[in-house]
Amino acid sequence: MFEGVSVNLMDIMAFRDAISNTHKLWLDGNAELLISFTVNMMGPVKVNQATRRIFQQGIAAIEQFYMDTSLIVLHAQRFESAAGFHYVVAVSGRSSLLLKKQLIELELSLPYGRMMDIDVIDKSYRPVSRRCLGYAPRQCLICHQQAKDCARNQTHSLADLHLAISEILAS
Ligand SMILES: [Zn+2]
Repeated sequence: MFEGVSVNLMDIMAFRDAISNTHKLWLDGNAELLISFTVNMMGPVKVNQATRRIFQQGIAAIEQFYMDTSLIVLHAQRFESAAGFHYVVAVSGRSSLLLKKQLIELELSLPYGRMMDIDVIDKSYRPVSRRCLGYAPRQCLICHQQAKDCARNQTHSLADLHLAISEILAS
């Protein structure tokens, strides 16, 4: 489930650069907002059976979402490399706050939503924060702390995180 190719920081930085270049290009063009979707996975292996399943569920849900809510989609692109998965959609005709709120609700409704990062990025290249909309910061998969803090402090072992993700994927 979690086996795959290990990547290093350089690989991850190169992947992020490619993504942010596309974001800038699209936002400098006709995109009013971007939906930016990545899969959260700690540790050196970013692409494995678990992240592939999460990524597929997320893409299917986002595609369904823009059909259901008649969102104007200008273009979309998937990125896949050993350093991770990313999906970006250029959209227009909806406010950033409404779109973010709708996507938080979507994330909350999905079985694997807790492992997804679905951001709304505006013309300033910055993501709209959950806090702006009154939502609590995302909670860790294992304890009740903020996910960001546990990740930064490496509170939990990779084995424990994998176990928590396995349980979510199996339920
Ligand atoms: Zn924690």
